[in-house]
Amino acid sequence: MIEDRVSKIIKPAILAAKAYHVPDSRGLIKLDAMENPYSWPEEIKVEWSRHLQQAELNRYPDASLSELRSRLTDALNLPDNTAMMFGNGSDELIQIILMALNKTSNVVMAPEPSFVMYRLLSSMMELDFVGVPLNKDFSLDLPAMLESIVKTQPAVIFIAWPNNPTGNAFEQEALEEIIKVAPGLVVIDEAYHAFARNSMMSCLHKYPNVLLMRTLSKLGLAGLRLGMLFGASEWISELDKLRLPYNIGTLNQLSANFIIQNIDLLEQQAQRIRDDREGFFNSLSEITGVEAWESEANFILFRVSEPGANRVHQELIKQNILIKNLQGAHPLLENCLRVTVGTEEENKAFLSALKSILVP
Ligand SMILES: *Cc1c(COP(=O)(O)O)cnc(C)c1O
Repeated sequence: MIEDRVSKIIKPAILAAKAYHVPDSRGLIKLDAMENPYSWPEEIKVEWSRHLQQAELNRYPDASLSELRSRLTDALNLPDNTAMMFGNGSDELIQIILMALNKTSNVVMAPEPSFVMYRLLSSMMELDFVGVPLNKDFSLDLPAMLESIVKTQPAVIFIAWPNNPTGNAFEQEALEEIIKVAPGLVVIDEAYHAFARNSMMSCLHKYPNVLLMRTLSKLGLAGLRLGMLFGASEWISELDKLRLPYNIGTLNQLSANFIIQNIDLLEQQAQRIRDDREGFFNSLSEITGVEAWESEANFILFRVSEPGANRVHQELIKQNILIKNLQGAHPLLENCLRVTVGTEEENKAFLSALKSILVP
């Protein structure tokens, strides 16, 4: 029987896991995945496709990613002596960090609710994941975090900053306390950096146990898959051994090199999203039966009372709008949903559909 063989060979943690579900979004207004809704001006697209013509697809990609490395060093104003490595999305970097852990030190911690990949990848690798609940208002429960750190001695703590799916950025002082008490690594995941006002980049030099992660996905290049990890070379050189040598393809490298020269374009789009976020939040909060939380990211978390998140999610799909239903994701997310800030028209369409469902 094939089932017997599968269950004998595959790790129990994988057999027990559910595959990461990506819903079919064809034909829908897509506000579920924090994508940038804007495309590039025609002349930039033409320039980009011309740039790609230099690709030698018969050759393996540049394994050292040297051009991308130097362009990013300039574009991001990285502190001197900061080492960096690249992942096929920051998801891959999370996976690499987890793969590197010593067998005897296998506790992974994150506040929860947070980015699901921390828990998902940890459990598939049979690591011990400790999720420390946030406070009811989604602020960090610092005493609980510190107590849990002392008790479980985590090898890695992941902090999404701003946090997904709650949208808030935890107090910087609280994070520094965590960094000081942590016996191992603290990874600050700045996936939403473009939409927040702050960065913890300066902590890289202050603390030897901090790594900082960024991605181009939320900035407008979700299709490109490019994540970046920054930190001391003592850490990065070990982690980089786990990276498959050609994990970033030639077309991706060329595209990233090209767009970094035009990073202002993406920054302007992010600024527009940030500007629209305020009005969108206000309109959402004003709807009867909605409680929304202020966000430092390009999405807004909100709770509905009647008729419940599952129903609201389904009814929105009927009106061709896809957002993320968080019902069941964590006890603190009871009847919560998450909506990406889209274009003005998309936001309007969402708001009026939501109103029609909640206030019939
Ligand atoms: C979206 C997201 C990521 C994943 O980014 P990719 O680079 O697309 O893999 C990582 N961390 C957080 C907190 C996110 O929300």
